[in-house]
Amino acid sequence: MEKLYEGKAKVIYKTEEEDKVIVFFKDSATAFDATKRAEIEGKGVINNTISSLLFELLEKSGIKTHYIKKISDREMLVWRAKRFDLEVVVRNITAGSLCKRLGLEEGLELKPPLVEFFYKNDQLHDPLVCVEHIRLLNLAEDWQVQSMKEMALKTNQVLKEFFKGHGLLLVDFKLEFGILPDGSLAVIDEISPDTCRLWDAKTGEKLDKDRFRFDLGDLMEGYRRVLEKIQGG
Ligand code: 5GP
Repeated sequence: MEKLYEGKAKVIYKTEEEDKVIVFFKDSATAFDATKRAEIEGKGVINNTISSLLFELLEKSGIKTHYIKKISDREMLVWRAKRFDLEVVVRNITAGSLCKRLGLEEGLELKPPLVEFFYKNDQLHDPLVCVEHIRLLNLAEDWQVQSMKEMALKTNQVLKEFFKGHGLLLVDFKLEFGILPDGSLAVIDEISPDTCRLWDAKTGEKLDKDRFRFDLGDLMEGYRRVLEKIQGG
């Protein structure tokens, strides 16, 4: 298979069809601009499983995504997309860079949820950007920014309710958007414990990538618990 692109956690391959590509989930884990790295056996399999399940949930809820189907343990077939160089973060509870930037305590409820845009640029360390910055850098049209915000909030509603029903708190998450071959705006990339903060609703235990970032415990144990919860009761 011809490689189109290789990122930190995934590889994108061409298919026989021009408008479809394969996302392959690797076992690599990186944090802090890839200054912290590890290979974690089985992470790719679990993230593909969780991402596929969540993309199916979004599709059922009427949110357009790039997802077509899961084709193997580590592979997902998706529509080819023209990606925006933006990361859209939705937050329900204070954590991470928000606390650091604004001097806030972790764990405060955000009502309504907060939406932030970051410029996806490794050299600049993904800086926070406002609509005016997005316009200045030509990263997206104003109406697209508005649509991404609306879709991100709708996604949050769906995911938050879903996780809550399975004993998990959706603290925050990152989405990426792209334009599909049919011209529609869609959620792309992945949605997994690599890109979401998920806390056990009863104990508050962190089950996401913060385990790797801050050495809070075995990463796979946290991810497996997320999968068990969302597949089980
Ligand atoms: P923060 O801005 O607090 O670092 O991250 C907010 C949320 O977005 C967290 O759930 C975090 O995992 C996710 N996130 C932000 N930037 C990235 C990124 O570059 N890669 C990944 N995998 N997740 C990110």
